[in-house]
Amino acid sequence: MRSYEKSNKAFKEASELMPGGVNSPVRAFKSVNMDPIFMERGRGSKIYDIDGNEYIDYVLSWGPLILGHTNERVVEGIKKVAEMGTSFGAPTEIENDLAKLVIERVPSIEVVRMVSSGTEATMSALRLARGYTGRNKIMKFEGCYHGHGDSLLIKAGSGVATLGLPDSPGIPEGVAKNTITVPYNDLESVRYAFEQFGDDIAGVIVEPVAGNMGVVPPQPGFLEGLREITEQNGSLLIFDEVMTGFRVGYNCAQGYFGVTPDITCLGKVIGGGLPVGAYGGKAEIMKQIAPSGPIYQAGTLSGNPLAMTAGYETLSQLTPHSYKEFERKADRLEEGLKAAAEKYDIPHTINRAGSMIGIFFTNEDVINYEKAKTSNLEFFAEYYREMANQGVFLPPSQFEGLFLSTAHTDEDIEKTIQAAEKAFSKLK
Ligand code: PMP
Repeated sequence: MRSYEKSNKAFKEASELMPGGVNSPVRAFKSVNMDPIFMERGRGSKIYDIDGNEYIDYVLSWGPLILGHTNERVVEGIKKVAEMGTSFGAPTEIENDLAKLVIERVPSIEVVRMVSSGTEATMSALRLARGYTGRNKIMKFEGCYHGHGDSLLIKAGSGVATLGLPDSPGIPEGVAKNTITVPYNDLESVRYAFEQFGDDIAGVIVEPVAGNMGVVPPQPGFLEGLREITEQNGSLLIFDEVMTGFRVGYNCAQGYFGVTPDITCLGKVIGGGLPVGAYGGKAEIMKQIAPSGPIYQAGTLSGNPLAMTAGYETLSQLTPHSYKEFERKADRLEEGLKAAAEKYDIPHTINRAGSMIGIFFTNEDVINYEKAKTSNLEFFAEYYREMANQGVFLPPSQFEGLFLSTAHTDEDIEKTIQAAEKAFSKLK
């Protein structure tokens, strides 16, 4: 067994200093019944904890590090910019550079506003949808997570699902009642909700591939159906691409599936590991945002030069070929995990979209949150610990997906498959 002695000591200290010893809930490793592993450094596809253990990293800071850790151009860019000043509170040219790349690659975005996190992006997008349409209600899907804004923390996935809290205390009833929640991949429920509340629904927000209830891709016709229904009812369609943006495809999930929303939220990859979010859409809608329009939204560190540089250097190293390679490697990982589970008769369903992969320990077809919850969570926790012990760092929750980076090698993938096979043979 690996030693986590220093991690355990650090966590003991942290527990006195921060709620649950962490600055974001899933990092507490609660659902895999162990204390958190404290990390020290990363390089390419590998990370190293403070006890000196090495891991192949499939968390990648929960998605942003699509080029792997300490990518040379990203690090050099950050260093160079830091020496010139970390923040000015006045515009810089690097903001134009990143905005141009985003507008070029994201089909729905003509104008973009940078913020500092995915949560800010979705909160701002909702305000925009409400301000633009003059309506109050928002529709979201069970098991989708859109950050921790009041309107969106309603039957949310991610940390909330992991901790088994359907809602969070502290969200006013008046706010919650303006959020309509329906099952993912269920157009009939969407139509029904529109019949009831259609003329007051400002927007429908959706993860075009759900990544916060494990990985759940849209069924054929689901995103197209949402596009059609929102258009017919004068509501805006909002794609939360904080996770899928520049991850699922060169032109994000909207390019991959060929469905163009009205507003897109971004985060994670566009910050290359620094705090960035963004939202954008048609110029006609975006010009309603201050100072060109009346809908207010601002940020002291929005468009921060370090963060813009990390994002710019990240996006500019991604090519259509990068995504072909992701497909190839992810396909091999999927196939290897499947064969390993089959060999030991482990009930399983593997879902994948591009380089987002999720394994559920159930034989059910996982198309929504109800089905995701049929996974054997105890088995997942044991599998998690076995994999960590063999040097494979997975997201410490059933309700999250694995990510690949351009730095992951074929050898990493084969090692991971072998580790899974060993884990399954032990746990069967
Ligand atoms: N939307 C989605 C789809 C996400 O996955 C996340 C974070 N996991 C968020 C929004 C919130 O982003 P952040 O944690 O940067 O606030």
